[in-house]
Amino acid sequence: ELVNFNEFFNFILDRFDMLIKNDQDKAQAAGKPFKKYSIKRVFTQKDLWVEIDPDKMTQAIDNIMNNAIKYSPNGGTITCRLNDTQRYIILSITDQGLGIPRKDLKKVFDRFYRVDKARSRKQGGTGLGLSISKEVIEAQGGHVWVNSMENRGSTFYISLPYDAKEVGGDWDEAY
Ligand code: ATP
Ligand code: MG
Repeated sequence: ELVNFNEFFNFILDRFDMLIKNDQDKAQAAGKPFKKYSIKRVFTQKDLWVEIDPDKMTQAIDNIMNNAIKYSPNGGTITCRLNDTQRYIILSITDQGLGIPRKDLKKVFDRFYRVDKARSRKQGGTGLGLSISKEVIEAQGGHVWVNSMENRGSTFYISLPYDAKEVGGDWDEAY
C-alpha cells in the first residue's frame, strides 16, 4: 500500500501522545507518582510516499517507541525525526535513557536478547520486540540499526526504500 509516511508516522505518535496523557492523568487522579516525559517531532515538510504494509510497520515502530518510553528517565524527551535521501526515507527515535553498551548494540535485535538481565527483569518484557521489528522492516526492504551512548540515550533508525520521483496523493490536481 502506498502511504503518506508523514501522516502515517504522525498518526502513530498521536496515539502515543494520547496514551501518555491517559496514563499520567490516571496516575495523578490516583495520587500515584508517575514518570513525566514527552514526544517531540522533527519532520521534513516534504510529503514522503512509501510502499509499506501499514499494520506491520505500525507494529515495528510501536515496539521501538515502547522501548523508548520504557527506558526514558523522568523528564525525558523522545525525539522522533523523519527525513529522506534520494532512495530512502529515514526515521529515527531518540531517547534520553540509560543507553546500550557498545558490545550489545548488534545483539539487541536477536530473539530473546536482553541487555543486563537484572535491569531488564525490573522493566519486564520478553526480549522479542526488536527481533520482530527487524523482521518486519527487512521484509519490506528496509534496515534498522541503533546508535547509543551509555547514560546518554539511544537512537533507533529505520530506513525504507522510497522513490523520490514517485508522485502520490495529488492525482485530482494532475490534468
Ligand atoms: P519486549 O519488547 O518483548 O517486551 P524487551 O523490550 O526486553 O521485551 P526488545 O524490545 O527486543 O525486548 O529489546 C531488547 C533489549 O534491548 C531490551 O531488553 C533492553 O535491554 C535493550 N533496549 C531496547 N531498547 C532500548 C532503549 N531504548 N534503551 C535502552 N535499552 C534498550
Ligand atoms: Mg521491547
